Amino acid sequence: MRIAIAGAGIAGLCTAWLLDPVHEVVVFESQPRIGGHVLTLAVPDGPDGQAAVDVGAQHIAPGAFRLFSRLLRELRLAAQTFDVPLSTTLMHHPYSTPLLVSPHASSSDRARSTILGDEWAAVGRLVSGAAEWAAEDNSWATPLSELIEPLPVTREHKDMLLYPLLASFFGCDTTQVKETSARAATAFLIAVPPATDDDAPVWHNLHTGLGAVAGALAAQLERGRIRTDLGVKLLRRVGDQVEVTDSAGRSHTVDRIVLATHPDEAARVIAPLPGTDRLVDALNTFTYVDVLVAAHTDPAYMPPNRRHWSTNNVTVHDGWAETSTWYGAAGVDVFKSWVTHRDRPPRKPVAQASFRQLCLTPAAVRARPQVIAAQGEGGVHFAGHHLHHLDSQESALASAVDVARTLAPAAPRLERLLK
Ligand SMILES: Cc1cc2nc3c(=O)[nH]c(=O)nc-3n(C[C@H](O)[C@H](O)[C@H](O)COP(=O)(O)OP(=O)(O)OC[C@H]3O[C@@H](n4cnc5c(N)ncnc54)[C@H](O)[C@@H]3O)c2cc1C
Repeated sequence: MRIAIAGAGIAGLCTAWLLDPVHEVVVFESQPRIGGHVLTLAVPDGPDGQAAVDVGAQHIAPGAFRLFSRLLRELRLAAQTFDVPLSTTLMHHPYSTPLLVSPHASSSDRARSTILGDEWAAVGRLVSGAAEWAAEDNSWATPLSELIEPLPVTREHKDMLLYPLLASFFGCDTTQVKETSARAATAFLIAVPPATDDDAPVWHNLHTGLGAVAGALAAQLERGRIRTDLGVKLLRRVGDQVEVTDSAGRSHTVDRIVLATHPDEAARVIAPLPGTDRLVDALNTFTYVDVLVAAHTDPAYMPPNRRHWSTNNVTVHDGWAETSTWYGAAGVDVFKSWVTHRDRPPRKPVAQASFRQLCLTPAAVRARPQVIAAQGEGGVHFAGHHLHHLDSQESALASAVDVARTLAPAAPRLERLLK
């Protein structure tokens, strides 16, 4: 079959890689570069050195990201992974003493001072509550407030610590986070259990950055092609086939199309097709927050005392909770910071990029089965992070696997990935 794919983020690239060379795929990407929410930049560190900074997606949960870990092996990138203890410092602007400095790694803690106390106990109660909800497979459509409010934790700790901590994962404000899916909001918190109480959960980063994954997926296409700077504008059904009009106004006739874009963009593309009103409504239920992320070497957003530096340093200010991620685990003083609402930009940012982060609401959780039920109707399929539990690399890949299971169940790459 000839298959068009809209979007060269991880979902679209994985779909193309899985279907190739069984089918002839052509990927349309509206931006000049591939990768979507994966963007790796080289940040100069000292006169000779450079650090690969993932301005978008960065962390991989070993164990929890089963498919993605296998993909790294298939792409021969597994050797590029290194351990990153996800320690957290949380502070309220303009107060300079953090409320919380969580453990990093028991072996390195001589250079650090933790601040634990009642705040750490409150985080522990949240983690236990979230783990119980996961073990009981509680509905993903229950809002976060229903998990946090009954916890035996003071009002102050809920408002000053727990809601801001979780809001910092998604770029939403500290009130909006209460209405997001509790399971989605806490999934990153419980994905990797720490080895001991004195250790942070250890996630993986890639020395090359995750951009190497996008690059390897594209490089391994045998028959497939990627067209950048060329989006999918609209679709028309022509008999059993689909006519795709690209952003340059040219038409392409294909047997199937996979929309691996964000759901609101997929809704816009399919809206002119007859009989899609309910599906368009379902796709438009997903809500995103616009965020601006900078890569820089200025420690502007770090705690004043270096002994309080963590991998993730969250500043709570004006109803927002924004993270500055320190590349200390890679041995460099390079930072990646959410700067959407900060009162000042970092000095000499190397680069900054805009992204959209999914704030998964109970309404979107309920709408998702409608999108999944419509898979393949009229030759139109959907892929993307929004189709699995939470906004992650693993979800993007899992959505591509779902499409490949339907369109090329015996594809060699799919079989190797699922073996
Ligand atoms: C700042 C940030 C940090 C993150 N950190 C992590 C992390 O540490 N770990 C993790 O697992 N996940 C993380 N995520 C989430 C992760 O990045 C996403 O889940 C995943 O990369 C999304 O992949 P995708 O292919 O579904 O979407 P995207 O990467 O958004 O790709 C969609 C693509 O479609 C293109 N497109 C849109 N419209 C059209 C059109 N009409 N025609 C053609 N192309 C079109 C877009 O340009 C884009 O390239 C993070 C996200 C952000 C924003």
